[in-house]
Amino acid sequence: MRVPDLDCLVVGAGPAGLQLGQHLAAAGRDYLILEGGSAPGTFFATYPRHRQLISINKVHTGTDDPELNLRMDWNSLLGGPLFTQYSERYFPTADDLIRYLADYAKHHSLAVQYDTKVERIARTDGGFEIATGGGAYRAATVVVATGVGVMPYVAPIPGIELAEPYATVSTDPATSSTSGCWLSARATRRSRRPRT
Ligand SMILES: Cc1cc2nc3c(=O)[nH]c(=O)nc-3n(C[C@H](O)[C@H](O)[C@H](O)COP(=O)(O)OP(=O)(O)OC[C@H]3O[C@@H](n4cnc5c(N)ncnc54)[C@H](O)[C@@H]3O)c2cc1C
Repeated sequence: MRVPDLDCLVVGAGPAGLQLGQHLAAAGRDYLILEGGSAPGTFFATYPRHRQLISINKVHTGTDDPELNLRMDWNSLLGGPLFTQYSERYFPTADDLIRYLADYAKHHSLAVQYDTKVERIARTDGGFEIATGGGAYRAATVVVATGVGVMPYVAPIPGIELAEPYATVSTDPATSSTSGCWLSARATRRSRRPRT
């Protein structure tokens, strides 16, 4: 039986992957996080497109209770540092979160290998083999923490190709009238036009 090189291999260094890495490190596990991007939290380098988080950051809570404060802080990972040190804004910018996640990985000396996209995961005798462009790894456990942003769902609606997808729509108010309603209405109107 082949002995896995790692206890756990985590795919993705977003908030979930980093948090898991922190727990695995604290538990003394042999782990590695593989991240396709060049830094943690690459999802937030593109999204939200308007660059303002929807996760609140309540800095002034009126209490010193750490549990209560954490409930009102939707961005911090466990084990510190806290995101509230990075922004005073109730709805902070996505760039603040990227900065925070990079510092969090450094603070905990997390074992993250960047620019390493996982291409294939196969079950082997006693674990998993994980293939990347730069080589293969073996691990007893694999956790896929790749988030939601990789495969946009395009609904099978006639005319959907006329709507600008969220990922590429202009966020410049001077050049766009881009509410979701407008996009949807445009697609519907075109699809009802009689065929000639
Ligand atoms: C439009 C939109 C806006 C959002 N706004 C917010 C917000 O303001 N605040 C908030 O808290 N949440 C927001 N979310 C939810 C947000 O996606 C999650 O909170 C957060 O990103 C989930 O973290 P995660 O670690 O699970 O995944 P992600 O942050 O997506 O991290 C996944 C990581 O995996 C990497 N990866 C993917 N595939 C591979 C591969 N094959 N090999 C190696 N690495 C790979 C990616 O590069 C990425 O770094 C939003 C979601 C959407 C869709």
